[in-house]
Amino acid sequence: MHINDILQNQRVTTSFEFSPPKTPEAAEVLFNNIRELEELHPSFVSVTYGAGGSTRQHTHDLVVRMKEEATLDPFPHLTCVSHTEEEIESILFRYAENGISNIHALAGDPPRSRPNYDRSQDHFRYATDLVRYIKRFNERGIHPDKRGFGIGVAGYPEGHYATPNRLKEIEYLKAKVDAGADYIVTQLFFDNHDFYDFRERCELAGIGVPIIAGIMPVTSRKGLERMAELALGSRYPAKLLRAIERCDEDDTYVRHVGVQWATEQCRDLLDNHVRGLHFYTLNRATATREIYTHLGVKDSRRLSA
Ligand SMILES: Cc1cc2nc3c(=O)[nH]c(=O)nc-3n(C[C@H](O)[C@H](O)[C@H](O)COP(=O)(O)OP(=O)(O)OC[C@H]3O[C@@H](n4cnc5c(N)ncnc54)[C@H](O)[C@@H]3O)c2cc1C
Repeated sequence: MHINDILQNQRVTTSFEFSPPKTPEAAEVLFNNIRELEELHPSFVSVTYGAGGSTRQHTHDLVVRMKEEATLDPFPHLTCVSHTEEEIESILFRYAENGISNIHALAGDPPRSRPNYDRSQDHFRYATDLVRYIKRFNERGIHPDKRGFGIGVAGYPEGHYATPNRLKEIEYLKAKVDAGADYIVTQLFFDNHDFYDFRERCELAGIGVPIIAGIMPVTSRKGLERMAELALGSRYPAKLLRAIERCDEDDTYVRHVGVQWATEQCRDLLDNHVRGLHFYTLNRATATREIYTHLGVKDSRRLSA
């Protein structure tokens, strides 16, 4: 369903993010987790695109399988890095043919294996360029929905690591929205004040599209380190770090602390009229399900009531 229809029908959207599995065994484990999360009836699910286009085929295959074998509405991510215009066009053609309604458009980061990667080779530099291109593709009337793809972009409540100038950063975000983005999904954050301040700064800048909050519970000490690597620039509040430090060695306790923290974040965001909650699942159902249980809901649709 086009994101604008979802947003019109639901006061609060819920979504789960997955990454394409690397092996057939991992694909089966992932699908078991997807089945568990399907019971929560999310508004949509999203599928990441590996750095430098490394999961191009796998992202496509997972998106198509989710659409065929589950009652889920998958939104693929698509990034600029390492792609020519022709490649992006052919990816869009395939998604249009498969009836995929929305695309999450990102700049992407160069693959870690190629630290000196030269971005001047890429046809699209910034996510804004990709949004503009998808908008032009939409106008060609290829997509079965005459509006074409709904388009999402990324936002960073605590700022993107590559742009220390926070005023410029909001200008760039506004440019992405003005180019045609329908909604923003944020990077993970642990202090809701950062989200509220970001939302207000967007409002001041005249960014009017819905902003969906990215939530990722800490589930282990190693996981925390990995998150810090993946979401560069994210802040880890001292209160959260102290709570983790107090835990016994067993990561089960870290997980309780992380899930409780994320639950409180969600509860507060819901009380403060968040437009959507986006859960970074790391392909596992348990933590998200636990957050739902602590919120007292079995079904996402209850959050929209
Ligand atoms: C919700 C979410 C999902 C993500 N999914 C993926 C994924 O599937 N695959 C993946 O590889 N990565 C993913 N990422 C990471 C993302 O690709 C990186 O953080 C990347 O560095 C920035 O992407 P962007 O789309 O925000 O880029 P842009 O909006 O293009 O911004 C990139 C940087 O350039 C700056 N900038 C923007 N426009 C201009 C301009 N005109 N002039 C100068 N500077 C400018 C921005 O401030 C920012 O610092 C995701 C991030 C989020 C928040």
